[in-house]
Amino acid sequence: MNKINFEKILENLDEAVLAVDYDNKIIYANKYFCSLFNTNSELVSGKYVYDFLPEKTDTIVIKDCTYKISKINDEFCSYFYMSVVDNQLEKIYSDFISTVSHELRTPLTSIRGFADTMLLSYDKLDKDQMHKFLTIIKEQSNRLIKLVENLLSISKIQVQQSNFVYKSINPKSQIEKVIEILKNQYPSHPIELKSQADIQNILADENKFQQIMINLIDNAAKYSYERGAVTVRIANSSQNENFVSIKVEDHGVGIEPENLSRIFEKFARVENHLTRKTQGSGLGLYIVKNLVEKMGGKIFVESSTELPNSGSVFEVLLPAASYIAQSKKVLED
Ligand code: ADP
Repeated sequence: MNKINFEKILENLDEAVLAVDYDNKIIYANKYFCSLFNTNSELVSGKYVYDFLPEKTDTIVIKDCTYKISKINDEFCSYFYMSVVDNQLEKIYSDFISTVSHELRTPLTSIRGFADTMLLSYDKLDKDQMHKFLTIIKEQSNRLIKLVENLLSISKIQVQQSNFVYKSINPKSQIEKVIEILKNQYPSHPIELKSQADIQNILADENKFQQIMINLIDNAAKYSYERGAVTVRIANSSQNENFVSIKVEDHGVGIEPENLSRIFEKFARVENHLTRKTQGSGLGLYIVKNLVEKMGGKIFVESSTELPNSGSVFEVLLPAASYIAQSKKVLED
């Protein structure tokens, strides 16, 4: 094979290839290598190979992909080959497709089924049956709306385009609105709100704050057994007076300690007695964490599975409006 053909093959290879001289200086880098490191062959040429690759291990993680590095020594130079052994992005993408198709198909099938039944037998159905079917159609439509909103949120988070409209808001009245919505969806779960009397306003985006609370309270009811109570507690944080603490407590299935950090990852659903029965995309907590942190807050979770209803407590800390106003003033002065 002549040199030109050989170089063409290397250029179009789906593996990164480098050739280095005896001093470990790069004498050739193919297109794939240059695109991985956002560079070009002229810039790379003459650089030390270990400025790019690890010296002590034979794997490297770049842009969610793990590459295995193999080295072959030749008479005149050495070649480094980097081939993909684990592509997290591909996995995330295929998880995404299967979760979203399942999450879309399930409520749509149910909506179509109940609408069909009503159309075919509307003259035979009594008022109660009609009411029951329409309620299911409404609940399933709400699920679809929540999924679409969550999907829009992650795409915005990914492209960093989320617009936040900050206002001084009263957390108690916002949470009351959210509980009103969710009470209809979970009639068998008592959802209680307990608030300190002199609670401070927070500086947050109203819609995003509601989205955070909907996801947390919805999970608390969803991962609890029938009639499991959910309590939302609002207080000025005892740890830091500049923050307001909102705790969502349930007595549900709980989360094993080893899964506590995983639940905030995109598409992470942890197996429990109720995950198979309940619908979900594994996006809720990922979005919640992102929104809370973008608004200058923090989220914590405590949970246990020791007893059947040990339950979980999710705590969100958000900055008080007066604290932000003060900090701004200090900066301006
Ligand atoms: P989804 O509920 O759609 O699966 P989330 O991101 O909201 O996705 O939650 C991720 C996982 O964390 C859930 O699948 C569930 O296993 C676990 N989880 C979240 N909240 C609770 C809770 N209050 N109690 C027990 N498990 C929970």
